[in-house]
Amino acid sequence: MALVDGVVTMEQEQKDDDICEKMEGWTHEDVGKRIPMRKTPNGTYYNEPIVSVFCQFCASEFIGPSREAGGFLGGHECLHAWEISQAMGRDDGMVE
Ligand SMILES: [Zn+2]
Repeated sequence: MALVDGVVTMEQEQKDDDICEKMEGWTHEDVGKRIPMRKTPNGTYYNEPIVSVFCQFCASEFIGPSREAGGFLGGHECLHAWEISQAMGRDDGMVE
């Protein structure tokens, strides 16, 4: 009986995890859902959560697969670091 209970519990957990079949155009309603499979030219992503993130420097928002959210944050970080280095007018090429 314990084994059966365990199986039932696992099935319920999977059903509770909302599935999102969208491949683009994610909105706030999709945050927290999972994309079972997403094919891209770079590879195939499985079980990706859809997350909502924002840039703390310029307040841009992004909603989408976690992999792309990481790229969004990394891209903004690079851009704003560059902007800061430009604003500081460093002529020695060093940032302390
Ligand atoms: Zn930004």
